[in-house]
Amino acid sequence: MDNSSPRIAVIGAGVIGMTVAKILQQELRNTNITIIANEFLEDTVSCVAAGIFRPGTSFKGPTKDITKKWINNSWSFWQDILKTPEAPEAGLMSVSSYIFSKENQFVTRNHLIEDLVPIYRTVEKDELKLCGEGWKYGSYFSTIKIGCDRYLPWVEKSFIGKGGKIEIKKIDSFASLRSKFDLVFNCTGMGAKVLCGDHDLVALRGQVIKVKAPWLKMAFYGDYDTYIIPGIDGVATLGGVRQYDSYNKEVCKYDSAAILERCCKFLPALKKAEIVAHQVGLRPHRMPVRVEPEVMDGVKVVHCYGHGGYGVMCAPGTAMDAVKIGVDMLRSNARSKM
Ligand SMILES: Cc1cc2nc3c(=O)[nH]c(=O)nc-3n(C[C@H](O)[C@H](O)[C@H](O)COP(=O)(O)OP(=O)(O)OC[C@H]3O[C@@H](n4cnc5c(N)ncnc54)[C@H](O)[C@@H]3O)c2cc1C
Repeated sequence: MDNSSPRIAVIGAGVIGMTVAKILQQELRNTNITIIANEFLEDTVSCVAAGIFRPGTSFKGPTKDITKKWINNSWSFWQDILKTPEAPEAGLMSVSSYIFSKENQFVTRNHLIEDLVPIYRTVEKDELKLCGEGWKYGSYFSTIKIGCDRYLPWVEKSFIGKGGKIEIKKIDSFASLRSKFDLVFNCTGMGAKVLCGDHDLVALRGQVIKVKAPWLKMAFYGDYDTYIIPGIDGVATLGGVRQYDSYNKEVCKYDSAAILERCCKFLPALKKAEIVAHQVGLRPHRMPVRVEPEVMDGVKVVHCYGHGGYGVMCAPGTAMDAVKIGVDMLRSNARSKM
């Protein structure tokens, strides 16, 4: 690494910032890259997420084609890691899942991944009686899960090993970065609401319960945001809630009671599971997810935020586009200096 190579900052150390930094290091060897964030690892929203690869209809890019490209590219990125012996250390696992509903067939379908995952099929009548009661509709599908409690440290270790730097700091304006960096990636999740004054970015409050359930090997989804998702280390995630424009980061005991009741009705064996933690996370919801360049306070910025409830699964696809935009900005910069 020499002093003439571009100086790049990635603001944010959640799944988006870490994935952007990882892809950047692959694309631009010998570059000075610094990750700057005020919260890391278990303090990020990314570590609250179960991290299942199952997009909802509220995940949107600027066009249908771009949304699908982000999803497909993300799937390929995760599959490439899943095929290596590093998959468990990176927090990746394959998981099969049932999704049931008493009310609608369409909620059990998923037009965004039915052609992508190895299996997506309507359930047989007998399968509707497997657990819970009164299900009328259901699908069975295979997918993957990415646990950020392992993925983030795995990326951080390799990032530092390749010469990347980490700074713990809150950024209050892009102007403060002007003299230090040639390019900045803004991966601040909900932080972008203040940093960019973005009124289109809204919190979708989530709350989950982590329980010890090493016997659980499948994921289950039901009506009213009910989900039970196994973890690589035997800790399952029970959810959930989806509260629009709610910024309360405290655990709500009424939400916890409702989540437990719904999940235990679904799988009664969970009544005996030991509770490890109650967690809250504010999903950074924006339509569309913002992946675009902007010059702010004289700084070249590439935004990559607003992934809502799907940032873990779709981090790679959006990060690939953000990195491409950033590399093009650097190259046009170099050309204009010739
Ligand atoms: C309950 C729940 C369940 C979920 N389940 C799933 C799921 O199954 N699958 C899925 O794909 N997604 C899921 N999600 C969504 C997913 O967690 C988010 O989309 C994703 O974590 C967003 O990542 P991020 O890196 O943008 O944000 P974050 O993880 O919040 O990281 C933001 C980073 O930016 C830093 N930052 C912010 N502002 C500043 C500033 N001014 N200066 C310096 N640093 C700053 C923070 O410190 C942090 O490091 C779930 C979310 C919740 C809450």
